[in-house]
Amino acid sequence: MATKTQTEVRKFMQGLIKRNAGEPEFHQAVEEVVETLMPHVLENSQYREAQILERLTEPDRIIIFRVTWEDDEGNVRVNRGWRVQFNNSIGPYKGGLRFHPTVDLSVLKFLGFEQIFKNSLTGLPMGGAKGGANFNPKGKSDREVMRFCQAFMSELQRHIGEDTDVPAGDIGVGAREISYLFGQYKRLSNRYAGILTGKGLSFGGSLVRKEATGFGCVYFCENMFNRIGDSIEGKTVAVSGSGNVALYAAQKALQLGAKVVTMSDSSGFIHDPSGIDRDQLEFIKELKEVKRGRISEYTDTFTDATFHANKRPWSVPVDVALPCATQNELSSDDARELLKNGVKAVCEGANMPTDLDGARAFVKAGILYGPGKAANAGGVAVSGLEQSQNAQRLSWSAHEVDARLQGIMHDIHEKCVWHGADGTNVNYVRGANLGGFVKVAEAMLAYGIV
Ligand code: NDP
Repeated sequence: MATKTQTEVRKFMQGLIKRNAGEPEFHQAVEEVVETLMPHVLENSQYREAQILERLTEPDRIIIFRVTWEDDEGNVRVNRGWRVQFNNSIGPYKGGLRFHPTVDLSVLKFLGFEQIFKNSLTGLPMGGAKGGANFNPKGKSDREVMRFCQAFMSELQRHIGEDTDVPAGDIGVGAREISYLFGQYKRLSNRYAGILTGKGLSFGGSLVRKEATGFGCVYFCENMFNRIGDSIEGKTVAVSGSGNVALYAAQKALQLGAKVVTMSDSSGFIHDPSGIDRDQLEFIKELKEVKRGRISEYTDTFTDATFHANKRPWSVPVDVALPCATQNELSSDDARELLKNGVKAVCEGANMPTDLDGARAFVKAGILYGPGKAANAGGVAVSGLEQSQNAQRLSWSAHEVDARLQGIMHDIHEKCVWHGADGTNVNYVRGANLGGFVKVAEAMLAYGIV
């Protein structure tokens, strides 16, 4: 980075950290964006005069609320809920809900901020938002989860709507939770409207939504390989996580002829050197989605595989890494290890899974590095398609939705190449940030000072 840019980034970050003290994930997400956007902003006086970066990093509004519910023993329980409505310049707010004990304002602001760029990259009219609660669904009965979701929606319903804000799932919020949330919205509002995405197929959900983030991540990875005349076929792949994104990323990688050798959860990772085949992947789906078990149980049945407690899979030598679990799950040490072992591509299914220094190391090494805002945009893209189907009161076929998803991932890749070309290489971090920024910034300029 040139010195003037560095100075401006430093000044900007000092102000942001002061205004948003104690929010490290938010600082990290903004720094990554601002250090790539600053040269462009310095070259374009209209952005500086309109304080676009300052406005873009200040949420439109944040709603914080108490969620009171009753557990199976009759105890009163209290959690905190949030909705961060970050920016609606190019469409109604859109972004997932996360239920996890680590959820706080910093995490939701980082996620909502990244969502602005991601949603813009899809080419669909969606603003950026994120929400959730510090509720842990793990170990809770279905009835407890239902009562929590109903209590959460009792407040959230005041702030959402198909033309205002359309939440979806994220960590800890899957098909079960979305169903309870939608049922409660319908009961309170007496309206049947597409106010959530990721719904069940019998009540307005879209085919391929469940698969979309994982499939889209692998489509993006394949686009990166194809640009350099290569393919994911025949490559060895490490996947982290075993939730919604990880399961379908692994499935698509298998379908395209790759060998997936790892999956994980918050207790550790499994390594199956001969590759997880389709039946074994079905076993993991059943284990995690239906039985709500632990990934370590895989090795009870498939004894050639090993379980590594409290470790991440990045020490396993692979051609491709697909981090699909959570933020900051791939440190700069992990990045160095992957590079030392000859990794060719890292494509992020999760949001901000690589820390700042790790991401810089991938960019510097010139490997194919697809950041989450571009690579995992397939989920929100198909959510956007679910909204279109709801508005039309139609359901498209799986083939049609998947074809549109592939088209959208291809277009996002092209935008990244256009904005991120760096000699013969592509800096996909700059490409994604700039590609997402331009449309939002132009809309903000057009609205005047609001
Ligand atoms: P799920 O809840 O379905 O799965 C999360 C997975 O990550 C689980 O295997 C979980 O393990 C693991 N995990 C969670 N926290 C940690 C941790 N601290 N350390 C290690 N592993 C952890 O969530 P999703 O698959 O939906 O989301 C995964 C990531 O993808 C998130 O970053 C999310 O923001 C992002 N994303 C999701 C989209 C979607 O459509 N769902 C869209 C775009 C991005 P365990 O079972 O032990 O909790």
